[in-house]
Amino acid sequence: MNLLKFLQAQGFGSRKACRWLLRGGLVCVNGEMCRDETADASAVRELAIDGETQWLIPQPFFYLLMNKPAGYEVSQRPRDYPSVFALLPERVRAVGVQAVGRLDADTTGVLLFTNDGAFNHRMTSPKQHVAKHYRATLKHPAAPDLCANLVRGVLLHDDEETVSARSAETADAHTLKLCITQGRYHQVKRMVAAAGNRVAALHRERFHIWDAQGLAAGQWRFVAPENGTDG
Ligand code: URA
Repeated sequence: MNLLKFLQAQGFGSRKACRWLLRGGLVCVNGEMCRDETADASAVRELAIDGETQWLIPQPFFYLLMNKPAGYEVSQRPRDYPSVFALLPERVRAVGVQAVGRLDADTTGVLLFTNDGAFNHRMTSPKQHVAKHYRATLKHPAAPDLCANLVRGVLLHDDEETVSARSAETADAHTLKLCITQGRYHQVKRMVAAAGNRVAALHRERFHIWDAQGLAAGQWRFVAPENGTDG
């Protein structure tokens, strides 16, 4: 990839805007000013624009993990709440990014984003059984058979087949930890409702191999991809 394309892939604007940066002598690569748009970008370790060192978006694909805060919709065209995409840096939004699955507006925790369509498909395909770990705060104290019922399977409203959790356990009377491998609409809330309780708050602790350790609500970091499917 040449330097002009690289700058575009880093989200610094259109071809014209990036050419302007280069011609204006505003681009420093590995400590040296570079005006050559055809220069090979594979050796870029450090990039500064107008004297400011820039973080780099991994190429050609990036995988970004956010600790989603409550009150944001996972949609590019939100209806009732601000878009979670608004929490991503402008440069990441500029190069095109999709969420990997969805969380409800009031759900918090691990949410991945990527520009890798094949990865996104792998992680969200029902055939891949990717594990999603949730911590649900229950409105009512957990019944003694709640976890057993969720693992055995419950019938969701309007569905013909039961859906089951891979695992479920209570941490205390109002805290349920469960792992599901499907990704149905409002699945956790509907499963808990079908089992006779209500979810008062929901947090995704882990998506496959990724957790949000070290990230405050709304913070994000790039992560490495992983091809396994049965986390
Ligand atoms: N299940 C739900 O009910 N809501 C979510 O946001 C995720 C899983």
